[in-house]
Amino acid sequence: NTMNQNARIYVAGHRGLVGSALVRALEGEGYTRILKRTSVELDLTNQAAVREFFQRERPEYVFLAAAKVGGILANNTYPAQFIHINLAIQTNVIHEAWRHGVQRLLFLGSSCIYPRECPQPMKEEYLLTGPLEPTNRPYAVAKIAGIEMCRAYNREYGTRYLAVMPTNLYGPNDNYDLAGSHVIPAMIRKFHEAKVSGSGQVVLWGTGSPRREFLHVDDLARGCVHLMRLEGGGEEAFLDSENVPLINIGSGVDQTIRELAEMVREVVEYTGEIVWDADKPDGTPRKLLDVNKMNAVGWQPSLTLREGLAVTYQDFLARTSS
Ligand code: GDP
Repeated sequence: NTMNQNARIYVAGHRGLVGSALVRALEGEGYTRILKRTSVELDLTNQAAVREFFQRERPEYVFLAAAKVGGILANNTYPAQFIHINLAIQTNVIHEAWRHGVQRLLFLGSSCIYPRECPQPMKEEYLLTGPLEPTNRPYAVAKIAGIEMCRAYNREYGTRYLAVMPTNLYGPNDNYDLAGSHVIPAMIRKFHEAKVSGSGQVVLWGTGSPRREFLHVDDLARGCVHLMRLEGGGEEAFLDSENVPLINIGSGVDQTIRELAEMVREVVEYTGEIVWDADKPDGTPRKLLDVNKMNAVGWQPSLTLREGLAVTYQDFLARTSS
């Protein structure tokens, strides 16, 4: 039955960008029994610990937003950690959720699961139709395994697990550490610090020509809660003929990294020059999701990129000044 307000809901990864947005969205809709564990309290790579947690707490719904994530440099530098930690977390959580009777789990992936040279915009059915982008292949392969697990458990055990693939996300609680961050927090921090220090130059990575799509994480979270509450007819809308429980979430709009840089520069009100360091990787040439399935179940983003960047910069300022 539809997730009611007393349901026991476990948000794995509740301190991260996505998990914290899920908690905000759920609390905003009146959910009161949200289970949260930090990685110190519960090491999700430890199978025995995960089993004990599910046994004791008996969640009815699971949002699996715990993962090792990072930008292009982190993925390229720590390939072993990206594949090991993600495979371990998702295997433990998906399997123990099933063992303890969870019928509804939402697994979060990423648009990097699609082939590097994928036709754009990328439809769910393009999964596994070509070679992956090498800079984040270990992460992508782990996420693809998670999708296949959801599908396999649904087929064999009759669960109703879902795999949601968000486009590049940004918003509060993002990682602003320049060695690990994605492009938006990196730009906000670089422009902000250059403005404060009066530096006339900001160095960005790559050529600026790759195209990316971005979504504010609060829009993603609303979409995920909406999906978790769908029943019967609504659910069939996103199961394809192969019953792959895969659904993209994105804004449906992309722009070049260079255009993004101009937008962030305006939001931060930095007036200096931008230098492109072409020795740093560009990554995938273009990443734009086809979001027709998600739109068909009644979800649309509420923030434009410019609006989302403005609120994110305000959030960044509030955190750095406190
Ligand atoms: P990706 O979408 O997996 O490639 O991840 P990122 O968000 O890390 O990078 C997106 C694009 O932004 C890539 O083409 C990067 O080269 C480019 N980029 C430009 N400047 C930066 C920066 O300072 N940090 C990061 N992470 N990416 C940058």
